Amino acid sequence: MKYVLVTGGVVSGLGKGVTASSIGLLLQSCGLRVTSIKIDPYLNKDAGTMSPFEHGEVFVLDDGGEVDLDLGNYERFLDVKLTRDNNITTGKIYQSVIDKERKGDYLGKTVQVVPHITDAIQDWIERVAAVPVDGKEGPPDVCVIELGGTIGDIESMPFIEALGQFSYRVGAGNFCLIHVSLVPVLNVVGEQKTKPTQHSVRGLRSLGLTPNILACRSTTALDANVKEKLSRFCHVPEENIVTLYDVSNIWHIPLLLRDQKAHEAILKVLDVDLSCIVSKPVLREWTARAQLCDMLNETVRVAMVGKYTGLSDSYLSVLKALLHASVACRRKLVINWVSASDLEDVTAIENPEVNRAAWNSLKSADAVLVPGGFGDRGVEGKIIAAKYARENNIPYLGICLGMQTAVIEYARSILGLENANSTEFDPNTTDPCVIFMPEGSKTHMGGTMRLGSRRTYFQNLDSKAAQLYGSQRFIDERHRHRYEVNPDMVLQLEKAGLSFTGKDESGRRMQVIELESHPYFVAVQFHPEFKSRPGKPSALFLGLIAAASGQLDLLLKKSVTKTNVFANGMSAGSPHRYGNGKSPVNGIYINGNGNGLHV
Ligand code: GLN
Repeated sequence: MKYVLVTGGVVSGLGKGVTASSIGLLLQSCGLRVTSIKIDPYLNKDAGTMSPFEHGEVFVLDDGGEVDLDLGNYERFLDVKLTRDNNITTGKIYQSVIDKERKGDYLGKTVQVVPHITDAIQDWIERVAAVPVDGKEGPPDVCVIELGGTIGDIESMPFIEALGQFSYRVGAGNFCLIHVSLVPVLNVVGEQKTKPTQHSVRGLRSLGLTPNILACRSTTALDANVKEKLSRFCHVPEENIVTLYDVSNIWHIPLLLRDQKAHEAILKVLDVDLSCIVSKPVLREWTARAQLCDMLNETVRVAMVGKYTGLSDSYLSVLKALLHASVACRRKLVINWVSASDLEDVTAIENPEVNRAAWNSLKSADAVLVPGGFGDRGVEGKIIAAKYARENNIPYLGICLGMQTAVIEYARSILGLENANSTEFDPNTTDPCVIFMPEGSKTHMGGTMRLGSRRTYFQNLDSKAAQLYGSQRFIDERHRHRYEVNPDMVLQLEKAGLSFTGKDESGRRMQVIELESHPYFVAVQFHPEFKSRPGKPSALFLGLIAAASGQLDLLLKKSVTKTNVFANGMSAGSPHRYGNGKSPVNGIYINGNGNGLHV
């Protein structure tokens, strides 16, 4: 097993996750089997209890792990399936050590950061790295480990110590350290400054780690003399210094690394015999996707009606899935961010300007998407958005809360149940069309939702959703919710024209709703965005974008033959996050409440 450690210096938000994923992809394209581990030095056991506002989206895995969004990058870039153990946190490590201490496993010993915590970290890495993630048997060849945060953070110290020990444990030739750093350019003279990287590397060395490769973020390619200077002061050979300069979309990053022969430098450090592998990775599909994405002109405009608008990290996988679908439909994706609460009547009274802008944004979109969410802020606005899409035949995709709000809207508007609501927002509602699931916990928030991959059975293979999924009888998608459609109100809703076209194995749990009389009104209890891949866009996102761009009939015709031409053989893909999504370099066209940049 070979290990590639990716650390970050100078500032956060440099796009370490995308860099690490791109390195993984590059090594994969050399013929190696690659897995990955993300280390998050925070004390939370997992990302499940963290706010998407602060931390970005919570990514959900097949096994129900609620993890850092970087695992989404790895799954999308490497097309692998990771487990919750591929995300290490301080919380998980300490809990495992404390559990062992309580069992008496360290009897007689004082339990300490070194060696007990540091050993636990190393054992965890070694154990998880050996687990295959690509559906094949036997351990992978390479494990890419990304250390979250920036060198020098107090909370990452035990991890740095453990990784220093680990590099010694696995031995030279099996460990390669790539340090991602920033080379700022001073505006006045346009000079590329090396000092921050020098300091950062010095910090790394003082903690016992030596970088083998420097990946420098900068606006333009590094000048030869800058590379030479970095090499001299950081003791890294010039051929091991690569520049990750700004690109039009982040699918270019693996190509950038390949063109600078990063794979050769890494494989040399890892003592891999180049003659035994593909030493010239082609990345044909990635090249085509990156170029295609740059060339798209005709737009498709999607209104994202959410709570954390403008923060693309909070809805990262949804944006990726929209992009995968848009590129497959040969459309340039434009997101109209609509803050749900701005659509509400209270805003119209208190802040009419804001309300008008939100409505204009919603009305100028070709499609409406209401993503998942928790808490009551903006819920009425999401209900309004669903009503607008339903009544005006605008393509609509509701995800999780976006399905629940669509059901509430239908109950209110069509069944005339004015007080219809979810008990999440009104515990005493007289018409609870969305209710708490019996197996949930109201006292413990961490990991107690209905989580991970669950099966949905289509009730009618002719429904749009079923057809988009290739008319399969059932599908497996990832879930993350506490509430569900009230099974006792389903008959009533069905009689009023709402079709429940996907249910769980018991038939009591509603997973997909559709309106047959509408061009495209589909909402799901699960999160299809998590399994969307570049070149393999998620079926329902593809349906949404196809409907929004006049291609749904064609798509459905093709789906009947079970060959999805939109997904196969075409160069669809995603604009993977580069930077933390708050940086203007993530390959998505954003307007509305966003920053209006082609980013
Ligand atoms: N808050 C809703 C629930 O818990 C929806 C969750 C979601 O959108 N992920 O059921």
